[in-house]
Amino acid sequence: MILIVDDKPENIFSLKRILEINNFEVDTALSGEEALKKILKRSYSLIILDVQMPGMDGFEVAENISGYSKSKDIPIIFLSAVNTDKRFITKGYASGGVDYITKPVEPEILLLKVKTLHRIYEQTRDLNEAQLALRAEIEFRKEAQTELKERVQELRSILESIPQIAFTAKSNGVIEFVNQHWLNYSTAQEKFPVAHPDDPNIEEKWKDAISRNVPLEMEVRIKNLYEDEYHCHLLRTTPIKEAGVIVKWVGTFTDIEDQKKAEMRKDEFLSIASHELKTPLTSIKAYMQLLERAFSSELKTSKVSANYLQRAQFQVDKLHSLIADLLDISKIESGKLKFNEKVFNFENLLANSIDIIRQTNHEVTIIRKGTVDKFVYGDEIRIEQVILNYLTNAIKYSPDNKEVIVENSLTPEGDIIVRVIDSGIGISSDKHAQIFNKYYRVDETSNRFQGLGIGLYICSEIIKRHHGSFGVDSSPGKGSSFYFSIPVHNTETTLITS
Ligand code: ADP
Repeated sequence: MILIVDDKPENIFSLKRILEINNFEVDTALSGEEALKKILKRSYSLIILDVQMPGMDGFEVAENISGYSKSKDIPIIFLSAVNTDKRFITKGYASGGVDYITKPVEPEILLLKVKTLHRIYEQTRDLNEAQLALRAEIEFRKEAQTELKERVQELRSILESIPQIAFTAKSNGVIEFVNQHWLNYSTAQEKFPVAHPDDPNIEEKWKDAISRNVPLEMEVRIKNLYEDEYHCHLLRTTPIKEAGVIVKWVGTFTDIEDQKKAEMRKDEFLSIASHELKTPLTSIKAYMQLLERAFSSELKTSKVSANYLQRAQFQVDKLHSLIADLLDISKIESGKLKFNEKVFNFENLLANSIDIIRQTNHEVTIIRKGTVDKFVYGDEIRIEQVILNYLTNAIKYSPDNKEVIVENSLTPEGDIIVRVIDSGIGISSDKHAQIFNKYYRVDETSNRFQGLGIGLYICSEIIKRHHGSFGVDSSPGKGSSFYFSIPVHNTETTLITS
């Protein structure tokens, strides 16, 4: 918008017309005072200012304008009828004008000047805006950089103060900081500590994890440069993200040697204890059978004695299965869990397993859904162990609901899948990943239900060894659905019904 300031309306009229015909927006003021008020309120790209005006003259207006920061850059063209004297022209430029035109005005010349000045004004304004934006951007980057520096410094101080070996790396995996402990285990900052010859190479595992953009977690034995013994460490790396993008990695090696040794001692103890317990228990079982036979006629008549004997047998069986589980654990640990594999019909196995549970749990209703009449190559007794474990858990952890569903079908990949579904206490989703871990029991419910937390771990090992998969879908108060899948043995013809 262009502002024309002149005390004579007829001058304003003709100028305004010329400019408007040429598509300029025009505003007018009839005195210096009015012009100043308008300039304060809005911004103009150019001011055409008459010099001779009653009251405040054009030079005074220009001087005032140059005093406002908002308007000091607006170009001014002075219009003067009489003061063509060099002195006045100089004064005009000195008071902030960029051009000086004497009347009568030559419209083409004025228009050319207006166009040029208007363009310069717009360019200057754009430049100023760009400069402002640039300054803000520089300021923002400076602040962000300072903040980042502070954060990195803070992180480094934390990493220096922890007892673990710690490091940070760029997003591409290049190590950029290591703490003091690192130097006790590695000869150089950029080199990972050397792993025990029988353990995986750390560098390779790290590169692989970086190439896949995933955190690394591994147990590895490394050695203090000043000691002879290797210590088992847990290496864990965590990404640091900004706006969802990994910008850095933080990693630690935690010495878990003591924990490992304690675990080994516990496993050894359990292995010895369960072996020791098994022998007398087998004798007790045998003697009870002998007793049952020796007193079979008496037991027929005495319901009480028969009941006592039955109860004792039930408890002995429970003890027997506990010891068997503990023995399985030590066999898994020592890699001695043996499988007696052959081809068998899966449907028969599933039906038999359900029958076993029905015979010992009269109060429970087991509903079957789907039948898959296929053959499997594996250890029948071990797979039965998995099904029995899922079923006994479903009953145990559903104290108020004695209905269990067993669903059997084929996965899209063609594997057999069994789901044991209960309406019991359920498990919150943050625990699902750990539920198949050794000795894991859900804290909140472990007091209410007896158990050792090893059943599902053994199941998972058995299923893994049969190249199957396993898992759970569950939510608290709504029940659980434990499942496992197992590959079908291909050579047999099959029949599916639902
Ligand atoms: P245990 O039952 O002897 O504790 P498991 O290994 O069989 O050991 O199960 C591990 C844990 O998983 C249990 O302690 C229990 O917290 C939870 N769990 C297993 N099955 C169920 C189920 N059907 N419903 C709810 N929680 C279950």
